Amino acid sequence: RNASTKYDVLVVGGGPGGYVAAIKAAQLGYNTACIEKRGALGGTCLNVGCIPSKSLLNNSHLYHQIVHEAETRGIAIDGKVSVDFDKLMAAKDKAVKTLTGGIEMLFKKNKVTYIKGAGSFVDEHKVAVTPIDGSEAHEVEADHIIVATGSEATPFPGIEIDEERIVTSTGILSLKEIPKRLSIIGGGIIGLEMASVYSRIGSEVTVIEFQNAIGAGMDAEVAKTTQKLLAKQGLKFKLGTKVTKGVREGDVVKIEVEDVKSGKKEELESDVLLVAIGRRPYTEGLNLEKAGLELDNKGRLVIDDQYRTKHEHIRVIGDVTFGPMLAHKAEEEGIAAAEYIKHGHGHVNYANIPSVMYTHPEVAWVGLNEEQLKEKGIKYKVGKFPFIANSRAKTNLDTDGFVKFIADAETQRVLGVHVIGPNAGEMIAEGGLALEYGASTEDIARTCHAHPTLSEAFKEAALSTFDKPINF
Ligand code: FAD
Repeated sequence: RNASTKYDVLVVGGGPGGYVAAIKAAQLGYNTACIEKRGALGGTCLNVGCIPSKSLLNNSHLYHQIVHEAETRGIAIDGKVSVDFDKLMAAKDKAVKTLTGGIEMLFKKNKVTYIKGAGSFVDEHKVAVTPIDGSEAHEVEADHIIVATGSEATPFPGIEIDEERIVTSTGILSLKEIPKRLSIIGGGIIGLEMASVYSRIGSEVTVIEFQNAIGAGMDAEVAKTTQKLLAKQGLKFKLGTKVTKGVREGDVVKIEVEDVKSGKKEELESDVLLVAIGRRPYTEGLNLEKAGLELDNKGRLVIDDQYRTKHEHIRVIGDVTFGPMLAHKAEEEGIAAAEYIKHGHGHVNYANIPSVMYTHPEVAWVGLNEEQLKEKGIKYKVGKFPFIANSRAKTNLDTDGFVKFIADAETQRVLGVHVIGPNAGEMIAEGGLALEYGASTEDIARTCHAHPTLSEAFKEAALSTFDKPINF
């Protein structure tokens, strides 16, 4: 490579935001390169996030079903059913490898140059690359730069992570053995997904949460039901509880907690402690000052509504800037940023970004919840339909949960959809479509849904906002 290679578009970070932006920019005709320092494309999501967690969730769920439901379902098991933890992890690693390799192929197909190295700004048009293979550093230059360097786990003040006994989400995805006792600080999505995985395969799991409710951001009624169902599966919850200490002593972790209200202290012991209190933007080593880029007080790169920093040609997308830290949000922004460069316009509807928790049952929502609507003073109606009254859920012996629609009291326009139940993560796509097209609940209730499917519960919940349901 020359001392300085020039590209039309240079993307720093190859996660869901960066790799999608790079492919889109190339498809729009730009000579594009993407710098990634991890040694694999796909970022947090594919390597240590969405994908490995979903592999463990899916396979641990299958195991749990076999152990607890095989007999009821008429499946006889001759001999012992057990978890082969090494193979469970190997299946996860294989899924990660296949998918990250797939992005490399997509880069080739779209003629995106993949630069394996760490990028840091030299000035607002030049980025120095330190290759991961140890070869000599060099500079690349670009007319447009898209920063997509993502996020990292937020540390807990005073608790030292060793990724063995005291772990972040990265360590918990690669444990060497199933911990007998697992404690988790944080009852958000990542904490509860990992709690589910390890509880299903035999760990005693305790979730410690400062707030009085789990599932940050969930509709309160859904969060309550979720907690009840997860508790039934064996998860222990300590809500309204503050962690004051967590130290490793040999092979155990000693944790001190305090009841937020009463101040009552308690000591817990665990084999592994997962710190899952959130994520923070990651800009280490980027040398932002050299390009004069600005961070806000939460460490997020500051941008305008076209993802532009104070330099028009440097844009920022994904976890490292504002908005929900979700892979699909980063991807949408990747497309929009490339389109802004090409056409001067792009589009992401921030009022319509679904959230999904892949526990069992799954929990998914899009749009506003009751608490948010009350705060805004918007009058609304609620329609609910339980899966216990849905023929497919009953046939599948999987009836926990419900679909909840929130519609404008006067116009019936869909304002929010909240689902707890089997396949909620797939079903929520229909809610997103309804929001995007400004549908009313009547539009949905009058749309023919196939029988027998779980989506009939979706239709009947919509119907329930303005009329009587048929099957309940
Ligand atoms: P990232 O994916 O973090 O990618 C940034 C990349 O930039 C990294 O690969 C990093 O190595 C690279 N990089 C950083 N600095 C430099 C540099 N200076 N030079 C070169 N490269 C650099 N989201 C969902 O939507 N669904 C889920 O189910 C889900 N599950 C999750 C589970 C876990 C355990 C975790 C931790 C996260 C999960 N997320 C999920 C969140 C999701 O992973 C992130 O929102 C998403 O990865 C953000 O994409 P991004 O491109 O902004 O950043």
